[in-house]
Amino acid sequence: MNTEPTLMKNCLMPTTSRPDIVFVRGAGSYLFDQQQRRYLDWVQAWAVNCLGHSPDVVVQALCAQAEKLMNPGPAFYNEPAIELAELLTSNSCFDRVFFGSSGAEANEGAIKLARKWGQKFKGGAFEIITFVNGFHGRTLATMSASGKAGWDTIFAPQLDGFPKAILNDLSSVRALIRSQTVAVMLEPIQGEAGVIPASPEFIQALRTLCDEHQLLLIVDEVQTGCGRTGTLFAYEQYGIEPDMMTLGKGLGGGVPISALLAKESCCCFEYGDQGGTFSGTPLITAAGVAVIRTLLTEGCLPSVRQMGAQLADGLVAISKEFGLGEVRGAGALLALELGRDIGADVVTAARAKGLLLNAPRPHCLRFMPALNSTSAEIVEGLDLLRQVLKELP
Ligand SMILES: *Cc1c(COP(=O)(O)O)cnc(C)c1O
Repeated sequence: MNTEPTLMKNCLMPTTSRPDIVFVRGAGSYLFDQQQRRYLDWVQAWAVNCLGHSPDVVVQALCAQAEKLMNPGPAFYNEPAIELAELLTSNSCFDRVFFGSSGAEANEGAIKLARKWGQKFKGGAFEIITFVNGFHGRTLATMSASGKAGWDTIFAPQLDGFPKAILNDLSSVRALIRSQTVAVMLEPIQGEAGVIPASPEFIQALRTLCDEHQLLLIVDEVQTGCGRTGTLFAYEQYGIEPDMMTLGKGLGGGVPISALLAKESCCCFEYGDQGGTFSGTPLITAAGVAVIRTLLTEGCLPSVRQMGAQLADGLVAISKEFGLGEVRGAGALLALELGRDIGADVVTAARAKGLLLNAPRPHCLRFMPALNSTSAEIVEGLDLLRQVLKELP
């Protein structure tokens, strides 16, 4: 391929600012560019590559399934989709699954299912309480459900029916409940907002509040699910059972798949209400099966917790050394508060040293290493970060 970059890259819509690097290969925790430069990747496609780049189990599952059957169409059963749905439901509190291709699509499904449930069982209630700084995707409905600053106007008019409460403030939720309210939807840890965890007391009280008012509790685990926080799903750490959950990102280990899971009591879609050309294709669900089976292997999730703790300890030490702020999050979804708006500068300087980082907000860094990162890789990344901070003007 012609590697003269600048000209051809202009064929891509400039929807995000990209550094002038073209990646050609990935292996585990590392990415390699056209010049064979190696980068330790602590972004992993925004927590998508939960087992690192091109993990053997996913490559093998994809190759084997590609030869066998890629896509009979969503209106026929296929083996990997059934197997993945069975794996997800038997390892969670949910009963049924709908597969999509992106987190936004899974959340759209959750919004539709909640509205359908409201029509059937709650007198047409349709409002879903969501949260300031929450993030649920980039379709019009999920942008309306999100609480990102400025998102209420860029593609106005918004979709109606998503009043915003404040995370960890139960009275702000209570104040929004009306007869039209059908559900509350939140991320157990707000990812894009800068890794802001919902407190256990808040989520538990929210569950009770939802029960009192006959509201569905929907957790968006697109980012926190699939082992990221040290348990298969983050809700498990809160001692509650939601009515619905969405998954995405890590579920395919690098390939596009998402899922809407629901308790039997809210599975009220009728034929034709929900679908999608790429829903539950065997090629992609085979990757999901490989990912979930790997995460359920004995010792895997405990080792995620151990690796996350090593990373958190290292970040706390760095924070002390450089007089930075809080380290927060769970498992391998962590943030370091920088105290001032130097996030972008740190990301750029780290990249120059061969470490890929993410700054979801100008004042903090987010860490999403592969869940199977080795102890040596964590030490390597922490050392690189320390060097970057030392040399920062
Ligand atoms: C990334 C993300 C989404 C959107 O997923 P896409 O695959 O980009 O549509 C939704 N919710 C949360 C919590 C996310 O982190």
